[in-house]
Amino acid sequence: ETIEQTIERLGAVVPDYPKPGVVFRDLTPVFAGGEAFRAVVDSLLAEYKGRFDYVAGIEARGFLLAAAAAYAAGKGVLTVRKPGKLPRDTYSESYSMEYSENTLEVHQDDFPAGSRILILDDVLATGGTLGATARLIEQAGGIVAGFGVVLELRDLGGRTALHDYPVHALAAY
Ligand code: IMP
Repeated sequence: ETIEQTIERLGAVVPDYPKPGVVFRDLTPVFAGGEAFRAVVDSLLAEYKGRFDYVAGIEARGFLLAAAAAYAAGKGVLTVRKPGKLPRDTYSESYSMEYSENTLEVHQDDFPAGSRILILDDVLATGGTLGATARLIEQAGGIVAGFGVVLELRDLGGRTALHDYPVHALAAY
């Protein structure tokens, strides 16, 4: 079974969540499948091997991927957080998503300028979340090594929105 088939087999499709008309892809069973979770993290890392200094995870599901990847690679993990969660000086970016408005923040000094940052999240939809995260990393002096996601929802055009950066998706619908 390929990693894409594993994600397809375990991922759940939830119609009308979080609101009518949205088809939500729930990857919690992929995370809960021990071998599947390891394969996902290893695949994301393999794509960017030797090309990053830190792994950034986007709250909250991105944290799981980023922590596991950073640990496996022996690198530091960074948290890209919802507003008001980080206690020291932050940069902040707001953007609109498929079904909501959102803001994300990073600490201004969590990594040295010039560091290469691999950014991980579970799902790429419109690209608003990853795009805002790239702007945050760059404001803080970092270089975006690339994005890694478990699943890309192709119809929402996220890859086009992020055309300036490498995007690696393990599965796409
Ligand atoms: P985007 O900003 O439109 O690309 O949306 C991506 C963000 O929303 C990610 O942080 C995802 O976790 C979340 N998201 C959007 N759609 C889905 C979905 O179908 N399943 C799980 N997460 C989703």
